[in-house]
Amino acid sequence: MKDWEKWLKEIDLFLDDGQKEQFQRYYDTLITWNKKMNLTGITGEKEVYEKHFYDSLLATCCYPFKDVHSLIDIGGGAGFPGVPLKICFPHIQLTVIDATKKRIQFLEHLADQLSLENINLLHMRAEDAARDERYRDSHDVSIARAVAKMPVLAELCLPFVRKNGVWIALKGKAGDEETEMAMPAIRALNGGEADEHYFELPTEASDRHIYVFGKQGNTPRSYPRKPATIKKKPLG
Ligand code: SAM
Repeated sequence: MKDWEKWLKEIDLFLDDGQKEQFQRYYDTLITWNKKMNLTGITGEKEVYEKHFYDSLLATCCYPFKDVHSLIDIGGGAGFPGVPLKICFPHIQLTVIDATKKRIQFLEHLADQLSLENINLLHMRAEDAARDERYRDSHDVSIARAVAKMPVLAELCLPFVRKNGVWIALKGKAGDEETEMAMPAIRALNGGEADEHYFELPTEASDRHIYVFGKQGNTPRSYPRKPATIKKKPLG
């Protein structure tokens, strides 16, 4: 994939041969499993490299991942954005949480295929995992793409972040409006103001908005609430 290396160079990422091979194997495994279960609607090689791999890696323009020890991907699905970040920064301890068992089974197979170490794959709802002291208020970074609107997403992601860590939300062009609506929720969860970053995908040119929120203290005991309550009464 010639274009792919050019795109990465523009965001200061350089892969060694082993990492290039891991991305190729990721693509092959995704396409093979996608024939038997619904993992992605994007299947062309160039599209997967652009809209899944490169899109995930745009987060590296917004935060220094070389300094991150623990990363948790909430609702990671087929591994985006957590797994591309893990391939580029193999020192990271990655946890991926997803409520769908089949997606976690795919990720277990993928982790084996890519020989990923220090990866924890959890078949759980984020609301439940965030009540477990092993995961609550303990990660340097939580991250999510395409899981929920910001007022709900804040309650799913911020509880995992330690004091002075960050939550990173990968959004499209509706991100600004959603973020404005979510600010009361973010403050209630001890999140700070948004640090906003705007991008365009290299060939498709669609908008990508990425928001980074600092965590100013531990999560108040009342959060996260039960899934049905979050859905019925999003904070905001
Ligand atoms: N983040 C991936 C991506 O960008 O391709 C997957 C996006 S997919 C549309 C949303 C995923 O979030 C699904 O795999 C779903 O099972 C998971 N999910 C939704 N709500 C969740 C929750 N409360 N806890 C854990 N996983 C959740």
